[in-house]
Amino acid sequence: MCLFCKIASGEIPSSKVYEDDTILAFRDINPQAPVHLLVIPKAHIPSLDGVTAEHGALIAHLFETIPQIAREAGLTNGYRLISNCGPDACQSVPHLHFHILGGRAMTETMA
Ligand code: AMP
Repeated sequence: MCLFCKIASGEIPSSKVYEDDTILAFRDINPQAPVHLLVIPKAHIPSLDGVTAEHGALIAHLFETIPQIAREAGLTNGYRLISNCGPDACQSVPHLHFHILGGRAMTETMA
């Protein structure tokens, strides 16, 4: 089982900020902004490259819920959403996840 599957199942503890039947959001262990959250589907999808039409409802639910998670984290002045996919993007955990970064002005460069 991958690291985020273990977090989703509760085998590894996390600092949860949101959970429902299909998705989970928790604080990144190595925050790169005052607010740095990770949002994951509980089902194992290795990365964005693994998303198929079958995941349509799940992906829609993720994107409907991310603004709510950001709002509840106090990010009323904006935030950045990132999903690293594959080696060139330095994806380090092979389970689809979205970084929500905020709490300060982001830099204009994204890479
Ligand atoms: P990525 O590099 O895009 O794959 O992002 C993986 C993220 O997971 C990194 O920002 C790590 O700091 C974070 N991370 C790794 N282990 C944990 C953990 N046990 N709890 C919370 N975040 C973690």
